[in-house]
Amino acid sequence: MKQVQSTEAWRAIARELAARFAPRAAEWDRTRSYCWQNVAELVDAGIMGMTIPTEYGGKGASLYDAVVVIEEIAKACTLSARIVVEANMGALSAVMAYGSEEQKRRAAALVLAGDKPAICISEPEAGSAATEMRTTARRVPGGYVLDGRKHWITGGGISRLHLIFARVEDERGREQGIGGFLVISDPARGEMPAGFRVAGRERTMGLCGMPEAELVFENLAVADDMVLVPPRGFAHGFADLMAAYNCQRVGAGTVAMGVAAGALEHATRYLKTRHQFGRPLAEFQGLQWMLADMDAGVHASRLMLHEAARSRAANGAPFPDMMMAARAKAFATETAIRVVNDALQIFGARGYSDREPLERMYRDVRMFTIGGGTAQILKTQVAGCLLGIPTPQTREGQAGLAAAAGGDEEPAEADRRM
Ligand SMILES: Cc1cc2nc3c(=O)[nH]c(=O)nc-3n(C[C@H](O)[C@H](O)[C@H](O)COP(=O)(O)OP(=O)(O)OC[C@H]3O[C@@H](n4cnc5c(N)ncnc54)[C@H](O)[C@@H]3O)c2cc1C
Repeated sequence: MKQVQSTEAWRAIARELAARFAPRAAEWDRTRSYCWQNVAELVDAGIMGMTIPTEYGGKGASLYDAVVVIEEIAKACTLSARIVVEANMGALSAVMAYGSEEQKRRAAALVLAGDKPAICISEPEAGSAATEMRTTARRVPGGYVLDGRKHWITGGGISRLHLIFARVEDERGREQGIGGFLVISDPARGEMPAGFRVAGRERTMGLCGMPEAELVFENLAVADDMVLVPPRGFAHGFADLMAAYNCQRVGAGTVAMGVAAGALEHATRYLKTRHQFGRPLAEFQGLQWMLADMDAGVHASRLMLHEAARSRAANGAPFPDMMMAARAKAFATETAIRVVNDALQIFGARGYSDREPLERMYRDVRMFTIGGGTAQILKTQVAGCLLGIPTPQTREGQAGLAAAAGGDEEPAEADRRM
């Protein structure tokens, strides 16, 4: 992969864009609208799909470069930063790692033109326990037919490329494992494949410009050339697809850290300008210590995220190390919620008003310990690595896991969780 520009050049581009995005952020939030204007500027700047290799039209940037860009943009506009994550990680990481030449070419073209792909895993009855998903992909001549529903799908109703996780069944209904199915729609033109419907949108607390949608599949046909076959086949499909998802975890953790870094900057400025008791707030030691703790949290998060972004999976696959990604996302997201809360506190009543960005940042940052693997699940993953044991979550425990996998082989815990 050829690196076409330095990390510092990327940072400068991102800062320039962030300065333009900051004054618009409140309006996307207030009107609950997707920031198409920002997307057009991200396309022009080469940030949509910046990590796509140059042979597919991207910039060949590293995950670390993308993380640097995401932090700068998140300081100004959480919504835009989240789009940059999914336009470089998420579904795209899996397609660029495991896809056929044709799949890579099509995914790259969509993202480079401004699409934010959707990754469709969660279902009403399968959240953290993602492998309890009920969506099925039944083998038929020439492909598969999907039936089921997904909820909380980021970008549902605006995304063009969808990577749908489903239980794969052969012609006789025997289960093969979990696979990824690529479906392309064009919602802007009202063109949805037959059997693919957006059933509704959540009314969310934060990140209000981003649709979180329920998707329904009824006899949705997916041809063989749109099946994303994981390297070890469907039997280990979930684990392989989730390995690619570690890129997304680093990206999402970085959005949270970037929002916290932005809140820290706002708080630092405010402490110097607001006066009470005849002195600037900056002179009160209690607030100075709060600021120092906020700074330490942001700094530690950044170091963990950068370490994860530069790491490689234990098996050499082009994704971050699973434990580093889980540790960094859990720590950065919990820390970011605390930091933004403290920044809001420093602003007093003004922080609670929508005249200041803190109120929006506080709502925006809250989702990051939930979406993309909760903090609890990620910590369970870290503990499992430290202890060197899979930590069963089912009532039946270890034996139940092996039985559920249908074999003697003990399934790795990563084979089962979001
Ligand atoms: C804004 C947002 C965007 C999202 N985007 C997407 C998307 O694009 N695609 C997608 O597929 N999904 C998406 N999700 C769904 C997300 O991945 C799930 O919400 C998440 O995996 C948790 O599932 P759940 O909400 O059903 O919670 P549950 O799994 O029901 O968990 C409820 C609580 O119990 C805890 N818990 C559960 N099991 C354990 C355990 N074994 N040990 C300890 N604690 C446990 C959880 O941490 C949580 O606090 C999104 C969610 C949000 C909020």
